[in-house]
Amino acid sequence: MEKVIVITGASRGIGAATAYLAADKGYAVCVNYLRNQEAAKKVVDGIKKLGNKAIALSADVASETDVIALFNSVDRQLGTVTALVNNAGILEQQMRVENMDANRLQRILATNIIGSFLCAREAVKRMSTKHGGTGGAIVNVSSGASRLGSPGEYVDYAASKGAIDTMTIGLAKEVAEEGIRVNAVRPGFIDTEIHASGGEPDRIERVKEFIPMKRGGQAIEVATAILWLLSAEASYTTGSFIDITGGK
Ligand code: NAP
Repeated sequence: MEKVIVITGASRGIGAATAYLAADKGYAVCVNYLRNQEAAKKVVDGIKKLGNKAIALSADVASETDVIALFNSVDRQLGTVTALVNNAGILEQQMRVENMDANRLQRILATNIIGSFLCAREAVKRMSTKHGGTGGAIVNVSSGASRLGSPGEYVDYAASKGAIDTMTIGLAKEVAEEGIRVNAVRPGFIDTEIHASGGEPDRIERVKEFIPMKRGGQAIEVATAILWLLSAEASYTTGSFIDITGGK
């Protein structure tokens, strides 16, 4: 049976590194993205050049209609999903909680929490032995922020990742008997473009002296952990977390 993986937010950063590594490990890859078609195409072309199967599909994970269409397209173009990486996530300009408006909070929670729930729902419907599926694995991309809280920067983002941690535990137990494992990685300080969205592209330079390993991480260091959690080597691991934060 073909291994089919959906990676949300795979046009850039951690998602893109995960897409390349998944292709290398024999998955047919769906590279989901929001707007940056050029970046998504670059990932897909790179994978195809190595002789592996990949497609780019635009979908806003916060939109139920988009998510349903995304999984239906994957069914048609690649086959039934066997692995999902809930990676798409956003943060916004650094600020204190007293300055956050409701629209910002809605955007963060809609993408980071509701998006992950909707994608997990569509994956479970297809993977669960209860629904005639043959099982699968889900990895949620949480953040070290769920433990640290991100004071003065983005407590909203950190709280959204706290919800992802709880979802990981609950969903893992809910579907454990149905052939599906659900785990999470909690990266921190990874060298990607997300820090620019917070208004500080060089954030890692500023904080690295407070990281025990005294450096930021690379996207591939997160991708490696994600692919291990998805693999048969992690066959008895569910509801678990791997922190990839240089010891922070
Ligand atoms: P990034 O470089 O900013 O890339 C974000 C990706 O998500 C892009 O592919 C983007 O698509 C996509 N995306 C954003 N909103 C989306 C939506 N509504 N629907 C579908 N796709 C969407 O981010 P990153 O640093 O790789 O982060 C990836 C994940 O790791 C996030 O969940 C983040 O919270 C988590 N994380 C990152 C760090 C870090 O230090 N970098 C630390 C802890 C956790 P477009 O290219 O189309 O915009």
